[in-house]
Amino acid sequence: MNLHEYQAKRLFAEHGVPIPAGEVATTPNEAREIARELGGRVIVKAQVLTGGRGKAGGVKLANSPDEAEEMASQILGLKIKDFDVRRVLIDQQAPGIAQEIYLAVLIDRARRLPMIMASAAGGMDIEEVAETAPEKIVTVHIEPELGVRSYQTTYLASTMGMPRNLWRDFDKLVKGLYACFQANDASLTEINPLVITGEGKLLAVDGKMSIDDNALYRQPRLAEMRDVAEETASEREARASGLNFIQLDGSIGCMVNGAGLAMATMDIIKLFGGAPANFLDIGGGAKAEQVTTALRLILSDPKVEAVLFNIFGGITRGDEVARGIIEALEVIKTDVPMVVRLVGTNAEEGRAILADANMETAVTLSDAARKAVAAVRGS
Ligand code: GDP
Ligand code: MN
Repeated sequence: MNLHEYQAKRLFAEHGVPIPAGEVATTPNEAREIARELGGRVIVKAQVLTGGRGKAGGVKLANSPDEAEEMASQILGLKIKDFDVRRVLIDQQAPGIAQEIYLAVLIDRARRLPMIMASAAGGMDIEEVAETAPEKIVTVHIEPELGVRSYQTTYLASTMGMPRNLWRDFDKLVKGLYACFQANDASLTEINPLVITGEGKLLAVDGKMSIDDNALYRQPRLAEMRDVAEETASEREARASGLNFIQLDGSIGCMVNGAGLAMATMDIIKLFGGAPANFLDIGGGAKAEQVTTALRLILSDPKVEAVLFNIFGGITRGDEVARGIIEALEVIKTDVPMVVRLVGTNAEEGRAILADANMETAVTLSDAARKAVAAVRGS
């Protein structure tokens, strides 16, 4: 789950990370009032859960409450990458920007450790820095038992060429950001840019934070911060019906029982030259109703040109799954070609039921993937 900038920055502040004074507005009038209270010179920023706000016209400086109102009314009417801007953050302008730095705490999956990543090339996309100037990125790994050590922040600061008089503040800030990361079960806390102001102080003018969904049960305060309006309709429906669904860009819809099997299915589709349209784990013992919901989700994506079912019967019985699929297809009329691979408990019975209904079946996963890819090519 991703948080909005204003939410992330408030959490940063709880751990001593310096942020600009600011407040959220939902109307131009509110923006004007907030700007007045902040002294007039503000920055108006769209609060949407997507990057590239600046380029989309979603971040604008204003030098008076009147201007703030004007900017807010422009930004509140924007649509940034399909997201309606419903809120703007009004922040006090930084007193001049001498330098922009990138700073993040994230998980290094390969090393299985939290990692701090910093770069003197802040402000721009870090993926771009990683590609064009990887030597400008400095990293250190954190032993959870030890936490951030001061020699590590000194190493980061000196490698980036940060003025020595800021090293002590930087040390405190990095430790604060790491504490924030840990306390909130985050998978990412990112400041881009962390600026050195004209007055020579560090200030987090932007903030991004992703929370590990699996930890939300023990983070009720964060769970409440979820902005349902920012989820796609499909994601919302999937979550409500307990399906693990992630939309992708390909043309082959996948319905699979089990996350590992779902990943293997996506790999095989790729291997045979296709592209999966989604990741979907319907879980064990899925009932006809869930199969119907899942199929509706898959088919609501106009890019889907074929659907591949890959069901491994264990507790889930093949004949039940087959009946579920046929029931679903009675509710949802579609001419999208489908291939069903059923193995395990009662698979033969299941395949017989499907064959009776004129559905394409497969025994091996390769065979199923090949048929699904061919169905896309043939359409
Ligand atoms: P993003 O484009 O969505 O990442 O939004 P940011 O919050 O990172 O803002 C984009 C850019 O606006 C930053 O890289 C800064 O250069 C600039 N910016 C942000 N806050 C301020 C501010 O308070 N004053 C000034 N002058 N520029 C700012
Ligand atoms: Mn930014």
